[in-house]
Amino acid sequence: MTLREPRILQDRAYVNGEWIAADDDATFPVRNPYTGAVIASVPDLGAAAAERAVAAAAAAFPAWRDRTAGERATIMRKWFDLLLAHQDDLAALMTAEQGKPLTESRGEVAYGASFIEWFAEEGRRAYGDVIPTHRSGTRILAIRQPVGVVAAITPWNFPIAMITRKVAPALAVGCTVVVKPAEDTPLCALALAYLAQEAGIPPGVLNVVTTNRPAEVGGVLTHDPRIRKLSFTGSTPTGKELMKQASGTLKRLSLELGGNAPFIVFDDAEVEGAVAGAMASKYRNGGQTCVCANRIFVQAGIYDKFVAAFSRAIAELRVGDGAASGTDIGPLINTAALEKVERMVQDAVDKGAELALGGRRSPAGELIYEPTLLLGADASMDIAHEEVFGPVAPVFRFTTEEEVIAQANDTPYGLAAYFYGRDHARIWRVAEALEYGMVGINTGMISTAVAPFGGVKESGFGREGSRYGIEDFLTIKYLCWDGIGAP
Ligand code: ADP
Repeated sequence: MTLREPRILQDRAYVNGEWIAADDDATFPVRNPYTGAVIASVPDLGAAAAERAVAAAAAAFPAWRDRTAGERATIMRKWFDLLLAHQDDLAALMTAEQGKPLTESRGEVAYGASFIEWFAEEGRRAYGDVIPTHRSGTRILAIRQPVGVVAAITPWNFPIAMITRKVAPALAVGCTVVVKPAEDTPLCALALAYLAQEAGIPPGVLNVVTTNRPAEVGGVLTHDPRIRKLSFTGSTPTGKELMKQASGTLKRLSLELGGNAPFIVFDDAEVEGAVAGAMASKYRNGGQTCVCANRIFVQAGIYDKFVAAFSRAIAELRVGDGAASGTDIGPLINTAALEKVERMVQDAVDKGAELALGGRRSPAGELIYEPTLLLGADASMDIAHEEVFGPVAPVFRFTTEEEVIAQANDTPYGLAAYFYGRDHARIWRVAEALEYGMVGINTGMISTAVAPFGGVKESGFGREGSRYGIEDFLTIKYLCWDGIGAP
């Protein structure tokens, strides 16, 4: 990896505007999942350092809150510009530590930056209300204020975008933040902090605590009363645990957790579009996103046509080093992820699924799993109930609309769902019947900074992106003002 700006690669944590080591100088290695090589070692911070980061964020809060939204937006705009100016370096760093193909990394840098641009502007519109009074002489107002110090715990699959979509709305309305990035991908988080510093975001407003001991640092972030809100993206079990821990101080919570996305193709769908949507939804980031199609339901009348075209498209995917041009699918993030994919494919095959493509590790790299197509999947298989988080597409055949809605909703998760079809009445019915926070209709790509991203059921709550996403970082204060006289 060669960087035009070597300072994009930082190997110290960022607390109170300073680049720090762990108290005991402990570090942990960050590896390239394709080569296995160590890219850098970063500080393994413990509870004491996390507390200092919280203290820094708490100390920085009043001054940041008291700036105007326009002043904050001007600084954030610089941060946005810097991300785009360093798009190639950030993409190279992301591919090195996360493994996704360079084109996807470049796309994520732009997508991640778009939250900063969008929320910087939206911060100016955190309006309140003047409410017609219930009593003569009194005036009633509702104002919106920043919730306070925010903790953000983020995953490895989108090492930049999952941070900016929490940090950008928080900073825009005047909150300060402590970020704890995933241990597999701390370098992108530190690069973001470096660019934030360059943009003039004041010390303490944004802090990045790197650690290989997530539970220890998580304990501080969920128990410290100075933290008023926790925004978490990750697995459902971890989200439940953090919710329990945060109950002690009743923190505001946004939880973006696991999914089990259905992707439904009705008989009247346009096959080419449905295949393109399934490819985008299933194979982006090698299948490692929480909105990836996890179960592909295809109606009997279009089944053969769809499967033939889908299979051809999957067979064309090129696996390999994300840094090499032309790669569609890079390595999985780590050995545990690879073993999970292997276990789930084996389970499906043992229970009668037909392995049409792939189904094994690829010789192209240690953590690469071949793009896989499973036909004849059914509800007895683990893959019907659990996120596979890898390049594996199980196809289920169905007959009626009622049947597929029941199957699609038969899961504790409710993040994203997709369907393809042309009948307008059915589009309405199905969109309303799917118990999901997001529904893609004739598209497999739904993520954008301008739309509300989030789930229902055990996929969590809270929304990220859009004007709804800023609400998660605001609290409403009611002012009842008497002694004014008649209106
Ligand atoms: P994944 O399956 O994506 O690794 P996790 O929920 O384990 O999902 O991880 C998402 C984020 O949550 C990461 O930043 C990880 O370090 C963090 N995390 C995991 N366990 C805890 C915990 N007990 N307390 C705080 N953070 C945690």
